[in-house]
Amino acid sequence: MEKRTIYLDHAATTAVDPRVVEAMLPYFTDYYGNPSSVHHKGREAQQALEDARSTVADILGCKPREVIFVSCGTESDNLAIRGVAFAAHYRRHVERPHIIISPIEHHAVSRTCEQLEKVFGYEVTYLPVDEYGLVDPADLERAIQPHTVLVSITYANNEVGTIEPIAELAAVAQAHDVPFHTDAVQAGGSLDLNVDRLGVDLLSLSAHKFYGPKGVGVLYQRRGTSMLPMQTGGAHERNRRAGTENVPGIVGLARALELTQEGQAEENARLIRLRDKLIAGVLERIPYSRLTGHPIQRLPNNASFVFEFVEGEGILLLLDSEGICGSSGSACASAEIEPSHVLTAMGVPVEVAHGSLRLTLGRENTDADVDRVLEVLPPIIQRLRDMSPLYPA
Ligand code: PLP
Repeated sequence: MEKRTIYLDHAATTAVDPRVVEAMLPYFTDYYGNPSSVHHKGREAQQALEDARSTVADILGCKPREVIFVSCGTESDNLAIRGVAFAAHYRRHVERPHIIISPIEHHAVSRTCEQLEKVFGYEVTYLPVDEYGLVDPADLERAIQPHTVLVSITYANNEVGTIEPIAELAAVAQAHDVPFHTDAVQAGGSLDLNVDRLGVDLLSLSAHKFYGPKGVGVLYQRRGTSMLPMQTGGAHERNRRAGTENVPGIVGLARALELTQEGQAEENARLIRLRDKLIAGVLERIPYSRLTGHPIQRLPNNASFVFEFVEGEGILLLLDSEGICGSSGSACASAEIEPSHVLTAMGVPVEVAHGSLRLTLGRENTDADVDRVLEVLPPIIQRLRDMSPLYPA
Protein backbone atom coordinates (compact mmCIF):
# COMPACT_ATOMS: atom_id res chain seq x y z
CA MET A 1 0.00 0.00 0.00
CA GLU A 2 1.28 3.46 -0.92
CA LYS A 3 2.22 5.38 2.22
CA ARG A 4 0.63 8.79 2.75
CA THR A 5 3.22 11.53 2.31
CA ILE A 6 3.83 13.67 5.37
CA TYR A 7 5.84 16.61 4.12
CA LEU A 8 7.86 18.19 6.92
CA ASP A 9 10.49 19.98 4.88
CA HIS A 10 8.88 23.39 4.34
CA ALA A 11 12.19 25.14 5.09
CA ALA A 12 13.57 23.50 1.93
CA THR A 13 10.62 24.45 -0.23
CA THR A 14 6.83 24.59 -0.30
CA ALA A 15 4.14 23.55 -2.76
CA VAL A 16 2.82 26.44 -4.81
CA ASP A 17 -0.56 27.59 -3.49
CA PRO A 18 -3.29 26.95 -6.13
CA ARG A 19 -4.36 30.61 -5.79
CA VAL A 20 -0.80 31.59 -6.75
CA VAL A 21 -0.86 29.24 -9.76
CA GLU A 22 -4.17 30.77 -10.80
CA ALA A 23 -2.73 34.28 -10.61
CA MET A 24 0.32 33.26 -12.65
CA LEU A 25 -1.30 31.28 -15.46
CA PRO A 26 -2.51 34.18 -17.68
CA TYR A 27 1.04 35.56 -17.71
CA PHE A 28 2.32 32.50 -19.56
CA THR A 29 -0.20 32.49 -22.36
CA ASP A 30 -2.28 35.69 -22.54
CA TYR A 31 -0.11 38.48 -21.12
CA TYR A 32 3.17 37.15 -22.44
CA GLY A 33 4.64 40.47 -23.59
CA ASN A 34 8.12 41.65 -22.72
CA PRO A 35 7.73 44.44 -20.14
CA SER A 36 10.34 46.48 -22.05
CA SER A 37 8.29 46.49 -25.27
CA VAL A 38 6.41 49.68 -26.09
CA HIS A 39 3.36 48.00 -27.64
CA HIS A 40 0.25 47.07 -25.66
CA LYS A 41 1.42 43.50 -24.95
CA GLY A 42 4.55 44.94 -23.39
CA ARG A 43 2.57 47.50 -21.43
CA GLU A 44 0.28 44.79 -20.01
CA ALA A 45 3.30 42.90 -18.72
CA GLN A 46 4.88 46.12 -17.42
CA GLN A 47 1.67 46.89 -15.54
CA ALA A 48 1.66 43.42 -13.94
CA LEU A 49 5.26 43.95 -12.88
CA GLU A 50 4.54 47.30 -11.30
CA ASP A 51 1.39 45.99 -9.57
CA ALA A 52 3.47 43.16 -8.11
CA ARG A 53 6.15 45.64 -7.03
CA SER A 54 3.54 47.77 -5.23
CA THR A 55 2.12 44.72 -3.46
CA VAL A 56 5.57 43.71 -2.20
CA ALA A 57 6.41 47.31 -1.26
CA ASP A 58 3.19 47.60 0.80
CA ILE A 59 4.12 44.50 2.79
CA LEU A 60 7.73 45.62 3.31
CA GLY A 61 6.57 49.17 4.12
CA CYS A 62 8.85 50.68 1.49
CA LYS A 63 8.66 52.50 -1.83
CA PRO A 64 8.04 50.35 -4.95
CA ARG A 65 11.31 51.61 -6.48
CA GLU A 66 13.20 50.06 -3.55
CA VAL A 67 12.03 46.57 -4.59
CA ILE A 68 14.29 44.69 -7.03
CA PHE A 69 13.05 41.43 -8.53
CA VAL A 70 15.76 38.77 -8.84
CA SER A 71 15.92 35.06 -9.69
CA CYS A 72 16.12 33.56 -6.18
CA GLY A 73 17.20 34.04 -2.59
CA THR A 74 20.77 33.15 -3.47
CA GLU A 75 20.96 35.85 -6.10
CA SER A 76 19.41 38.36 -3.72
CA ASP A 77 22.08 37.63 -1.09
CA ASN A 78 24.85 37.75 -3.69
CA LEU A 79 23.66 41.04 -5.15
CA ALA A 80 23.32 42.68 -1.73
CA ILE A 81 26.71 41.59 -0.45
CA ARG A 82 28.90 41.74 -3.51
CA GLY A 83 27.04 44.77 -4.87
CA VAL A 84 27.56 46.81 -1.70
CA ALA A 85 31.14 45.60 -1.18
CA PHE A 86 32.12 46.43 -4.77
CA ALA A 87 30.40 49.82 -4.58
CA ALA A 88 32.39 50.64 -1.43
CA HIS A 89 35.61 49.62 -3.14
CA TYR A 90 35.10 51.10 -6.59
CA ARG A 91 32.88 54.11 -5.83
CA ARG A 92 34.04 55.15 -2.35
CA HIS A 93 37.57 53.79 -2.73
CA VAL A 94 37.57 51.85 0.54
CA GLU A 95 40.81 49.96 0.03
CA ARG A 96 40.03 46.73 1.85
CA PRO A 97 36.29 46.66 2.59
CA HIS A 98 35.34 44.94 5.83
CA ILE A 99 32.15 42.85 6.11
CA ILE A 100 30.64 41.42 9.28
CA ILE A 101 28.51 38.27 9.25
CA SER A 102 27.59 35.50 11.66
CA PRO A 103 29.06 31.99 11.46
CA ILE A 104 25.58 30.49 10.93
CA GLU A 105 24.66 32.24 7.70
CA HIS A 106 23.26 30.31 4.75
CA HIS A 107 25.95 29.43 2.21
CA ALA A 108 24.47 32.03 -0.16
CA VAL A 109 25.87 34.59 2.30
CA SER A 110 28.89 32.82 3.77
CA ARG A 111 30.36 31.56 0.50
CA THR A 112 29.88 34.96 -1.12
CA CYS A 113 31.86 36.51 1.73
CA GLU A 114 34.43 33.72 1.56
CA GLN A 115 35.03 34.53 -2.10
CA LEU A 116 35.34 38.25 -1.35
CA GLU A 117 37.89 37.38 1.31
CA LYS A 118 39.94 34.79 -0.57
CA VAL A 119 39.78 36.07 -4.14
CA PHE A 120 39.28 39.82 -3.72
CA GLY A 121 41.24 40.32 -0.49
CA TYR A 122 38.34 41.87 1.47
CA GLU A 123 38.17 41.38 5.23
CA VAL A 124 35.41 39.34 6.87
CA THR A 125 34.64 39.12 10.58
CA TYR A 126 32.50 36.26 11.89
CA LEU A 127 30.67 37.25 15.06
CA PRO A 128 30.25 34.58 17.72
CA VAL A 129 26.85 33.02 18.45
CA ASP A 130 25.64 31.55 21.72
CA GLU A 131 24.42 27.98 22.23
CA TYR A 132 21.05 28.92 20.67
CA GLY A 133 22.60 30.58 17.63
CA LEU A 134 21.90 34.13 18.82
CA VAL A 135 24.17 37.02 17.84
CA ASP A 136 24.81 39.57 20.62
CA PRO A 137 24.46 43.23 19.50
CA ALA A 138 27.33 44.10 21.88
CA ASP A 139 29.64 41.85 19.83
CA LEU A 140 28.58 43.66 16.68
CA GLU A 141 29.28 47.01 18.32
CA ARG A 142 32.82 45.85 19.11
CA ALA A 143 33.44 44.43 15.63
CA ILE A 144 32.58 47.54 13.60
CA GLN A 145 35.63 49.34 12.24
CA PRO A 146 36.12 52.50 10.18
CA HIS A 147 36.41 50.41 6.99
CA THR A 148 33.32 48.25 7.70
CA VAL A 149 31.07 48.53 4.67
CA LEU A 150 28.33 45.99 5.41
CA VAL A 151 26.81 43.87 8.15
CA SER A 152 24.80 40.82 7.04
CA ILE A 153 22.94 38.72 9.60
CA THR A 154 20.21 36.21 8.79
CA TYR A 155 16.74 37.05 10.14
CA ALA A 156 15.86 33.44 10.98
CA ASN A 157 18.25 30.52 10.67
CA ASN A 158 17.32 27.92 8.08
CA GLU A 159 18.55 24.93 10.07
CA VAL A 160 17.60 25.59 13.68
CA GLY A 161 14.99 28.32 13.23
CA THR A 162 16.49 30.80 15.70
CA ILE A 163 15.20 34.34 15.13
CA GLU A 164 17.93 36.95 15.49
CA PRO A 165 17.35 40.33 17.21
CA ILE A 166 17.48 42.08 13.83
CA ALA A 167 16.11 45.46 14.94
CA GLU A 168 18.73 45.73 17.71
CA LEU A 169 21.55 44.58 15.45
CA ALA A 170 20.50 46.92 12.64
CA ALA A 171 20.35 49.83 15.11
CA VAL A 172 23.99 49.21 16.03
CA ALA A 173 25.03 49.25 12.37
CA GLN A 174 22.96 52.34 11.70
CA ALA A 175 24.59 54.22 14.58
CA HIS A 176 27.89 53.71 12.74
CA ASP A 177 26.40 54.53 9.33
CA VAL A 178 27.07 50.99 8.10
CA PRO A 179 24.47 49.39 5.77
CA PHE A 180 22.70 46.35 7.23
CA HIS A 181 21.52 43.39 5.15
CA THR A 182 19.33 40.58 6.40
CA ASP A 183 18.65 37.29 4.67
CA ALA A 184 14.93 37.01 5.40
CA VAL A 185 14.42 33.98 3.15
CA GLN A 186 13.18 31.77 6.02
CA ALA A 187 11.26 34.61 7.67
CA GLY A 188 9.20 35.51 4.61
CA GLY A 189 6.11 33.48 5.42
CA SER A 190 5.70 34.17 9.10
CA LEU A 191 7.61 37.17 10.50
CA ASP A 192 7.28 40.96 10.34
CA LEU A 193 8.93 42.17 7.14
CA ASN A 194 8.50 45.91 7.70
CA VAL A 195 11.90 47.31 6.79
CA ASP A 196 11.53 50.42 8.92
CA ARG A 197 10.55 48.51 12.04
CA LEU A 198 13.49 46.20 11.37
CA GLY A 199 15.74 49.14 10.47
CA VAL A 200 17.42 47.24 7.64
CA ASP A 201 18.87 48.68 4.43
CA LEU A 202 18.78 45.47 2.40
CA LEU A 203 16.53 42.43 2.77
CA SER A 204 16.36 39.19 0.76
CA LEU A 205 13.31 37.03 0.06
CA SER A 206 12.62 33.93 -2.03
CA ALA A 207 9.10 33.03 -3.22
CA HIS A 208 9.40 29.24 -3.03
CA LYS A 209 9.73 29.38 0.76
CA PHE A 210 6.23 30.85 1.16
CA TYR A 211 4.09 28.85 -1.29
CA GLY A 212 5.24 30.79 -4.33
CA PRO A 213 7.13 29.54 -7.38
CA LYS A 214 10.81 28.60 -7.48
CA GLY A 215 13.23 30.83 -9.35
CA VAL A 216 12.07 34.25 -8.20
CA GLY A 217 13.11 36.45 -5.30
CA VAL A 218 13.33 40.00 -4.04
CA LEU A 219 16.07 42.29 -2.89
CA TYR A 220 14.87 45.32 -0.98
CA GLN A 221 17.41 48.13 -1.31
CA ARG A 222 16.84 51.22 0.83
CA ARG A 223 17.13 54.38 -1.22
CA GLY A 224 20.64 55.81 -0.90
CA THR A 225 22.33 52.44 -0.23
CA SER A 226 25.14 52.32 -2.75
CA MET A 227 25.29 49.05 -4.70
CA LEU A 228 26.83 48.01 -8.03
CA PRO A 229 24.79 45.70 -10.27
CA MET A 230 26.23 42.21 -10.50
CA GLN A 231 24.42 41.33 -13.70
CA THR A 232 24.84 43.89 -16.47
CA GLY A 233 22.91 44.29 -19.68
CA GLY A 234 19.64 46.14 -20.26
CA ALA A 235 18.26 48.85 -18.01
CA HIS A 236 15.87 46.50 -16.19
CA GLU A 237 15.06 47.07 -12.52
CA ARG A 238 16.43 50.64 -12.75
CA ASN A 239 19.83 49.41 -13.85
CA ARG A 240 20.25 47.27 -10.77
CA ARG A 241 19.55 43.83 -12.26
CA ALA A 242 19.66 43.29 -16.00
CA GLY A 243 17.61 40.58 -17.70
CA THR A 244 14.06 40.24 -19.01
CA GLU A 245 11.82 39.95 -15.99
CA ASN A 246 10.20 36.63 -15.05
CA VAL A 247 6.70 38.12 -15.20
CA PRO A 248 4.67 35.01 -14.23
CA GLY A 249 7.11 34.30 -11.40
CA ILE A 250 6.99 37.86 -10.12
CA VAL A 251 3.17 37.90 -10.24
CA GLY A 252 3.26 34.61 -8.30
CA LEU A 253 5.72 35.94 -5.74
CA ALA A 254 3.55 38.99 -5.03
CA ARG A 255 0.38 36.90 -4.73
CA ALA A 256 2.11 34.38 -2.45
CA LEU A 257 3.47 37.14 -0.23
CA GLU A 258 0.03 38.72 -0.07
CA LEU A 259 -1.45 35.39 1.01
CA THR A 260 1.08 35.06 3.86
CA GLN A 261 -0.47 38.16 5.37
CA GLU A 262 -3.98 36.66 5.52
CA GLY A 263 -4.59 35.23 8.98
CA GLN A 264 -0.86 35.14 9.68
CA ALA A 265 -1.20 35.44 13.46
CA GLU A 266 -3.69 32.53 13.60
CA GLU A 267 -1.58 30.34 11.31
CA ASN A 268 1.55 31.10 13.35
CA ALA A 269 -0.29 30.18 16.57
CA ARG A 270 -1.47 26.91 14.99
CA LEU A 271 2.05 26.06 13.81
CA ILE A 272 3.58 26.93 17.18
CA ARG A 273 1.15 24.58 18.91
CA LEU A 274 1.99 21.73 16.50
CA ARG A 275 5.71 22.53 16.69
CA ASP A 276 5.75 22.49 20.48
CA LYS A 277 3.77 19.26 20.59
CA LEU A 278 6.31 17.70 18.21
CA ILE A 279 9.29 19.00 20.20
CA ALA A 280 7.91 17.89 23.57
CA GLY A 281 6.91 14.49 22.18
CA VAL A 282 10.31 13.81 20.65
CA LEU A 283 12.32 14.90 23.69
CA GLU A 284 10.07 12.89 25.99
CA ARG A 285 10.17 9.69 23.93
CA ILE A 286 13.77 9.63 22.72
CA PRO A 287 16.72 9.48 25.15
CA TYR A 288 19.97 11.29 24.28
CA SER A 289 18.03 13.81 22.22
CA ARG A 290 18.21 17.56 22.35
CA LEU A 291 16.44 20.51 20.75
CA THR A 292 18.68 22.73 18.65
CA GLY A 293 18.09 26.46 18.30
CA HIS A 294 16.31 28.81 20.68
CA PRO A 295 13.42 27.25 22.65
CA ILE A 296 11.09 30.25 22.15
CA GLN A 297 12.70 32.73 19.80
CA ARG A 298 12.36 30.38 16.85
CA LEU A 299 10.36 30.10 13.63
CA PRO A 300 6.79 28.91 14.28
CA ASN A 301 7.28 25.88 12.02
CA ASN A 302 10.78 24.71 12.96
CA ALA A 303 11.47 21.67 15.16
CA SER A 304 15.12 20.65 14.96
CA PHE A 305 17.02 18.15 17.00
CA VAL A 306 20.23 16.27 17.47
CA PHE A 307 20.26 12.61 18.48
CA GLU A 308 23.41 11.05 19.83
CA PHE A 309 24.77 7.80 18.37
CA VAL A 310 22.99 8.12 15.00
CA GLU A 311 23.60 9.68 11.59
CA GLY A 312 21.08 12.19 10.24
CA GLU A 313 21.19 10.59 6.79
CA GLY A 314 20.07 7.26 8.23
CA ILE A 315 17.14 8.88 10.02
CA LEU A 316 16.06 10.62 6.80
CA LEU A 317 16.11 7.42 4.77
CA LEU A 318 14.09 5.47 7.32
CA LEU A 319 11.61 8.34 7.76
CA ASP A 320 11.26 8.51 3.99
CA SER A 321 10.45 4.81 3.87
CA GLU A 322 7.51 5.70 6.14
CA GLY A 323 6.44 8.50 3.75
CA ILE A 324 7.83 11.26 5.95
CA CYS A 325 10.01 13.98 4.37
CA GLY A 326 12.44 15.74 6.70
CA SER A 327 15.97 17.05 6.39
CA SER A 328 19.28 16.96 8.19
CA GLY A 329 21.89 19.63 8.77
CA SER A 330 24.52 17.33 7.35
CA ALA A 331 25.42 17.99 3.75
CA CYS A 332 27.13 15.43 1.59
CA ALA A 333 30.35 17.04 0.43
CA SER A 334 32.15 14.65 -1.91
CA ALA A 335 32.38 11.29 -0.15
CA GLU A 336 32.48 12.80 3.34
CA ILE A 337 29.45 13.84 5.31
CA GLU A 338 30.22 17.26 6.75
CA PRO A 339 28.57 18.19 10.03
CA SER A 340 26.46 21.34 9.92
CA HIS A 341 28.50 24.54 10.29
CA VAL A 342 25.51 26.00 12.13
CA LEU A 343 25.50 23.33 14.83
CA THR A 344 29.26 23.33 15.31
CA ALA A 345 29.27 27.15 15.62
CA MET A 346 26.64 26.76 18.36
CA GLY A 347 29.00 24.47 20.24
CA VAL A 348 27.38 21.13 19.38
CA PRO A 349 30.18 18.52 19.34
CA VAL A 350 30.97 17.26 15.82
CA GLU A 351 29.96 13.65 16.56
CA VAL A 352 26.59 14.81 17.94
CA ALA A 353 26.05 17.28 15.06
CA HIS A 354 26.07 14.31 12.67
CA GLY A 355 22.77 13.13 14.17
CA SER A 356 20.69 16.17 13.27
CA LEU A 357 17.10 16.23 12.09
CA ARG A 358 15.04 19.23 10.97
CA LEU A 359 11.28 18.92 10.68
CA THR A 360 9.57 22.02 9.34
CA LEU A 361 5.79 22.24 9.39
CA GLY A 362 3.51 23.94 6.90
CA ARG A 363 -0.05 24.90 6.07
CA GLU A 364 -1.24 21.39 5.26
CA ASN A 365 0.17 19.68 8.37
CA THR A 366 -2.15 18.57 11.14
CA ASP A 367 -2.08 16.91 14.57
CA ALA A 368 -2.33 13.54 12.81
CA ASP A 369 1.01 14.22 11.06
CA VAL A 370 2.70 15.06 14.35
CA ASP A 371 1.19 11.95 15.97
CA ARG A 372 2.52 9.80 13.13
CA VAL A 373 6.05 11.19 13.53
CA LEU A 374 5.90 10.57 17.26
CA GLU A 375 4.86 6.99 16.54
CA VAL A 376 7.56 6.15 13.96
CA LEU A 377 10.57 8.25 14.94
CA PRO A 378 11.46 6.62 18.31
CA PRO A 379 11.74 3.06 16.85
CA ILE A 380 13.73 4.43 13.89
CA ILE A 381 16.26 6.04 16.21
CA GLN A 382 16.41 2.88 18.33
CA ARG A 383 16.98 0.72 15.25
CA LEU A 384 19.88 2.91 14.15
CA ARG A 385 21.36 3.00 17.64
CA ASP A 386 21.19 -0.76 17.90
CA MET A 387 23.57 -0.85 14.93
CA SER A 388 25.99 1.66 16.46
CA PRO A 389 29.04 0.28 18.31
CA LEU A 390 29.15 3.54 20.33
CA TYR A 391 25.62 3.29 21.76
CA PRO A 392 25.80 2.40 25.48
CA ALA A 393 22.49 0.40 25.20
N1 PLP B 1 18.95 31.93 2.47
C1 PLP B 1 18.34 31.07 3.29
C2 PLP B 1 18.29 31.36 4.76
C3 PLP B 1 17.75 29.91 2.79
O1 PLP B 1 17.16 29.04 3.60
C4 PLP B 1 17.82 29.67 1.38
C5 PLP B 1 17.28 28.41 0.81
O2 PLP B 1 17.34 27.35 1.39
C6 PLP B 1 18.46 30.61 0.57
C7 PLP B 1 19.01 31.73 1.15
C8 PLP B 1 18.55 30.43 -0.90
O3 PLP B 1 17.31 30.67 -1.53
P1 PLP B 1 17.04 30.12 -3.00
O4 PLP B 1 16.76 28.66 -2.86
O5 PLP B 1 15.83 30.88 -3.48
O6 PLP B 1 18.24 30.41 -3.82
